[in-house]
Amino acid sequence: MAQYNPKSLHAEEFINHEEILETLKYAEENKHNIELIDSILEKARPQKTATGVHCAGLTHREASVLLACDIPEKIEEMYQLAEEIKLAFYGNRIVMFAPLYLSNYCVNGCVYCPYHAKNRHITRKKLTQEEVAREVIALQDMGHKRLAIEAGEDPVNNPIEYILECINTIYSIKHKNGAIRRVNVNIAATTVENYRKLKDAGIGTYILFQETYHKQSYLKLHPAGPKHDYDYHTEAMDRAMDGGIDDVGLGVLFGLEMYKYEFAGLLMHAEHLEAVHGVGPHTISVPRIKRADDIDPDVFDNGLSDELFAKVIACIRIAVPYTGMIISTRESQQVRERALGLGISQISGASRTSVGGYEEEERPHDSEQFDVSDQRSLDEVVHWLMQLGFIPSFCTACYREGRTGDRFMSLCKNGQILNCCHPNALMTLAEYLVDYASEDTKRVGMELIQEELKKIPRDKVREIAAEHIKDICSSNRRDFRF
Ligand code: SF4
Ligand code: SF4
Repeated sequence: MAQYNPKSLHAEEFINHEEILETLKYAEENKHNIELIDSILEKARPQKTATGVHCAGLTHREASVLLACDIPEKIEEMYQLAEEIKLAFYGNRIVMFAPLYLSNYCVNGCVYCPYHAKNRHITRKKLTQEEVAREVIALQDMGHKRLAIEAGEDPVNNPIEYILECINTIYSIKHKNGAIRRVNVNIAATTVENYRKLKDAGIGTYILFQETYHKQSYLKLHPAGPKHDYDYHTEAMDRAMDGGIDDVGLGVLFGLEMYKYEFAGLLMHAEHLEAVHGVGPHTISVPRIKRADDIDPDVFDNGLSDELFAKVIACIRIAVPYTGMIISTRESQQVRERALGLGISQISGASRTSVGGYEEEERPHDSEQFDVSDQRSLDEVVHWLMQLGFIPSFCTACYREGRTGDRFMSLCKNGQILNCCHPNALMTLAEYLVDYASEDTKRVGMELIQEELKKIPRDKVREIAAEHIKDICSSNRRDFRF
């Protein structure tokens, strides 16, 4: 039997089935242990330090106790604490991004995804470089600066050379005042050598969803293709980091397995990265299974209610305070609105989940990976965020200044990131408003910027930010950053 060891490089030792079962048992036994729950909440609370704010985070066992607890007043405390932690590190900023689907050719057999190889009636598409360029122009014309590229696994149709060529094309397009300044990559698990090539191509975060940490379920849900290899998939982040990629993004597809199992597995994965590489995941995504061509989410019987989904998000926020959290347009406006107050720091807007979808006037459905619940335009999403009191941010400064991996984390842990994020958010929002927003959104945004500028504590930083914003409004000068 494999022994639990967070420092091991073997999947079955760092995501250890017995340890997860023990954790769930411990959580169940202690879910009404108020003394323990209070001490866990106390440990997780933000503490003021000489250099800023510090949060201790939680182990997977401690966090699992919170998740198991069903005492309404304690759940309310968890929600408040999650919000407090979020405000301490992220303030009221929400980073914006969009997915870009390059190809839906795929040799895998994932039973929850319509791109699986046996689906013979879905339209298969792969963008040419000219089409990539047109998609990027369409995304730039909306105002996006940060993309996550997506492609199925197919060594013949989507080899690494194709992905690299697309990244190159994306970064090369400069249309009007637009630019894509950070390309995150969501492609299949690959070799250290290929991760090195991605790093050299200048990617931001490498994102790979585990789908499920439960090995037996994983093997059944991925019956064919290279993705069937659970160990190779689970150990991918270690290879990515060995290939020099500092920022990796984790996620599970909620609904495939028991959410408590996935939650413990996810946090064990984060602990493993910290133990081996000295830096935890840059982001965690929280997708839930959705309807799509030949996929009915009702056949998966581990579906998560909106209420439990909110609790999972809050508990992740409390457990890994420094990790960005992402929610996509799979979720409705209403669900996203609630999640924003519980720890989400990054959302997509105006997403199209089909290959070549942005170029089309009407949202195409023939090659979609999943139904998009939130179908609003980017302008509507930006407007909505501002009305809720958030600052939509198009900032990519850390990546561009080389603040990745442990350099990013040490800034973040010292609370120093607050001195950069706020002015950067305001300057990139000003770019968006001047170049892309509707009149109404622009008016609301400019007022917000003036109010938020006053909150920058350091006089010098405030003056420089205000000066740059003036420049953005009166000229074509762009891309200022702290
Ligand atoms: S989830 Fe990814 S690997 Fe699986 S079938 Fe869909 S595109 Fe292919
Ligand atoms: S300054 Fe860095 S951490 Fe802050 S929003 Fe920009 S990229 Fe993110």
